[in-house]
Amino acid sequence: MDKLILSVAMTGSRTSRAQTPYVPITEEEIAQQALDCWRAGAAIVHIHVRDENGQPSCAPERYQKVTDIVRAAGSDVIMNWSTGGGAGIVSDDDRSASIALAPEVASFDCGSTNFGRGVFINSPAFLEKLARDMNEHLVTPEIEIFDTGMIQVAKDLIADGFLQPPYWFQFVLGVRGAAPATARELTHMVDSLPDGARWSVCAIGRHQLPMNMIAMAMGGHARTGLEDNIYYHYRQLATSNAQLVERLVRIAREMGRELATPDEARELIGVNARRSAPARASE
Ligand code: ZN
Repeated sequence: MDKLILSVAMTGSRTSRAQTPYVPITEEEIAQQALDCWRAGAAIVHIHVRDENGQPSCAPERYQKVTDIVRAAGSDVIMNWSTGGGAGIVSDDDRSASIALAPEVASFDCGSTNFGRGVFINSPAFLEKLARDMNEHLVTPEIEIFDTGMIQVAKDLIADGFLQPPYWFQFVLGVRGAAPATARELTHMVDSLPDGARWSVCAIGRHQLPMNMIAMAMGGHARTGLEDNIYYHYRQLATSNAQLVERLVRIAREMGRELATPDEARELIGVNARRSAPARASE
């Protein structure tokens, strides 16, 4: 098995202060929790940013500010910037504007789905443009899969030359409107991946921990964090993102899964391969 890549999604676009006082909202708060999670063992931090009212933002300078604070503190944790947080709020162009700043990793939501009471739209034209932008700026896409059909969307984008190996997938299970968080669903999805793909699992609410554990046992990777789940135990709020990371680190040790460092994760998910390759011409 690979060394385990632990990701943490700390803020998201929906988790609010009314739900939990522990969700980081400002750039400084997000950076501080990112550092705590890195010290606890996370190799990747998945970043959303918010505006002054706490609403989802796609402002590139906010992403950059979080990254700058984390780097200034001496951390080499991989920063994975969201391109999904502004969906339904800002234009597709604004959603992908941060890619021009060349983050190491950015989310690539590989299709459209109902999402709670809303609709999460990622049109074919948007995905093709986002893939072109990521290729141009040598950004590793974290291919997020909310439902089984999205794996076929990824395969079609691969066949059409928009996505290149090595592939890094994140299954997001248990969103109302998309695939349920079950072992059977996950095993079918893993079996459906393109050859050589690496994959991680996150799941919503009470499904987070058991699905993380199943993924770890299967040789996959795991994402925790307050974006997906605000609880530590039933009706008991998690008091930080690092608290959730620390639990997974303990479980990984018990399971004999060694943790990947950020640099080891860069090698596994293809950040190094992309950064050492010449930029692909934008079409
Ligand atoms: Zn996210």
